[in-house]
Amino acid sequence: MARVPASGARSTEGRLRAALRARGIRWTRANDARLPGSPDLTFSAARLVVFVDGCFWHACPLHYRTPRTNARRWRSKIAANRRRDVRVVMLLASRGWTVLRVWEHELPEDGLYRVVEIIADHLHSRRRREASKKVVHRSEVMG
Ligand SMILES: [Zn+2]
Repeated sequence: MARVPASGARSTEGRLRAALRARGIRWTRANDARLPGSPDLTFSAARLVVFVDGCFWHACPLHYRTPRTNARRWRSKIAANRRRDVRVVMLLASRGWTVLRVWEHELPEDGLYRVVEIIADHLHSRRRREASKKVVHRSEVMG
């Protein structure tokens, strides 16, 4: 069996939720299957969705390595995941959602608080903005 990192993103997501709670920030829904990609966290009023992407499953440029066993199958599986990520962002953005995608590896320590601040800032500044279709953060690596 290839050594494939388990879904570490789940515990990472748990830490993000805890940090948000500590900051007094409440999300509307978690893993909302009614939205494309079932975003990890949804903030309905602010039209903001957050995804925490596992470095393996979403092919983080810093940490992803194709497993040696079944390399071809993994490559096509991971490529399909990345195509789906791009499609999901486009679908959500076209419906007026702001999409924040965060790498699992960004969430330890400082990164966690930076992401909480990005979310807090978005929630508070939302009213001053017109309908935002901006894709923030991870967008540059999603080609
Ligand atoms: Zn990574």
